[in-house]
Amino acid sequence: MSENTNRKIVIIGLGSGGLYVAKSAMSTSKNVEVTIIEKRSYDMFSPCSLPFAIEGVVDDFEKLKFSVPGHLKRMKKLTSHEALKIDPKAKTVTVKNLETEKTFEINYDSLVLALGSKPIILPIPGANELLGNGVFVVSTIENSIELKEHAKNSKSAVLVGGGGIGLEIAVALKNLGLDLVITKRTPPVLPKTLDPDMGQIIEDHLNELGFRILFGKGIDRINGNDWVESVEIAGETIPTDLVVMAVGVEPNVELAKNAGIELSNKGIKVSERLETSIPDIYAIGDCIDSYNLINKEHFPSHLATSAYLQGIIAGANATGAEEIYEGTLGTFVSKIGKLEIAATGFNTEMAKSNGYDVVTSRIKHWIKPEYMPGSTELSVKLIADKETGKLLGGQAVGEQGAAWRINIIALAIREGIAVTDLGKTELAYSPPVSEMYDVLSMAIEFAARKVKRTSEKVLK
Ligand SMILES: Cc1cc2nc3c(=O)[nH]c(=O)nc-3n(C[C@H](O)[C@H](O)[C@H](O)COP(=O)(O)OP(=O)(O)OC[C@H]3O[C@@H](n4cnc5c(N)ncnc54)[C@H](O)[C@@H]3O)c2cc1C
Repeated sequence: MSENTNRKIVIIGLGSGGLYVAKSAMSTSKNVEVTIIEKRSYDMFSPCSLPFAIEGVVDDFEKLKFSVPGHLKRMKKLTSHEALKIDPKAKTVTVKNLETEKTFEINYDSLVLALGSKPIILPIPGANELLGNGVFVVSTIENSIELKEHAKNSKSAVLVGGGGIGLEIAVALKNLGLDLVITKRTPPVLPKTLDPDMGQIIEDHLNELGFRILFGKGIDRINGNDWVESVEIAGETIPTDLVVMAVGVEPNVELAKNAGIELSNKGIKVSERLETSIPDIYAIGDCIDSYNLINKEHFPSHLATSAYLQGIIAGANATGAEEIYEGTLGTFVSKIGKLEIAATGFNTEMAKSNGYDVVTSRIKHWIKPEYMPGSTELSVKLIADKETGKLLGGQAVGEQGAAWRINIIALAIREGIAVTDLGKTELAYSPPVSEMYDVLSMAIEFAARKVKRTSEKVLK
């Protein structure tokens, strides 16, 4: 590339991450030409809102669609185009126009893969055979509309999977009037995120809402000829009209694999600059093997928030910058029934398996003075390194106020703040909004006391 020509940046995938690659590249340098290749026929949509459109909280799926923001108009956008092949030597991408069926090549100086992921279909008899005929996944507007249409004429459903997205979909279907069984092979709820005692609060709530919970009992088979008729779970045959698979996602890596880019079994391998094994090709979002911020070890983070932050870094680097991606904390929030559930960093088991000796503190308290209308209780759990007091993770579950407290913990982890210091932070207080001695402060103080006790013992 000569100094007088614009740098050609090609992005494959206009999703949560791809959009921010484009924004970042264009704000980092004026001398770039950005082209986005996207196989969908419309600009963008919010996958995170799909459960709420199924439920009807958002009354029209069309509202989830949005256009690429106006200031990005100078970006060339090829919707209804699929990237078929990357030639890293020639630095070209072969693209197919899905409307005309014509293929052509685009040159790049930097290429960013923002390919996303696809839902996993469990390898059990009946699952693939009945996909679309009673077995559904929720990943696009189109498959969500299809599920909703069938749900309107159904009486019962089985939701397979106990992660945040799965439970959001389960609540949506329940609120449409269906009887719901939720099944997952491992017993605790959200095991990669919450400790079992925090997960139990959610399980209790799901029981209150009238779900039949079969955790620790995986689904073995889906029966039916033209349409789903029943499922088999731990020897029991359960009649059902619908089955929804929400057991996680697998990264889209075919394009990268065929280009000779190095992969792990978790996705595309990237450096701290989010560059792949081939120079000038970057990758971000659900398609990469991500690492955590605390110790840079592998950490699954199939979240829009991670894709967006990675997009900012990769977009800048694609212009020639040297930005480093610090890693993810998997900071997340979900609304399941009445409960707001948020978490960040390691849960206790993860912290231990990463070699940390930990202290934990758990407090349940009112988020505003109990006498204030609308006050509800929130459970907060913190995980800190016993030796340094540094925070490693946090979890919060309650009707309100989980997310903002967990966002503070995410910042504290990133800054390496110890629980013994964090308590000195002044938090805003007014009775209609909060408590003077907040439940988060209580959990911090409790953890700090445990850390101090440990260090005093060591000094003795
Ligand atoms: C139901 C649901 C609820 C969710 N809720 C949340 C939430 O509350 N919070 C949160 O943080 N995350 C949530 N997520 C996860 C979040 O949506 C993803 O982590 C995020 O979208 C990943 O961004 P991405 O850019 O990596 O991939 P995507 O947003 O999936 O974008 C990838 C894009 O690449 C395109 N593409 C792929 N291959 C090609 C090709 N060869 N040629 C052209 N185009 C191609 C695809 O069409 C797609 O548009 C949810 C996901 C789902 C499905």
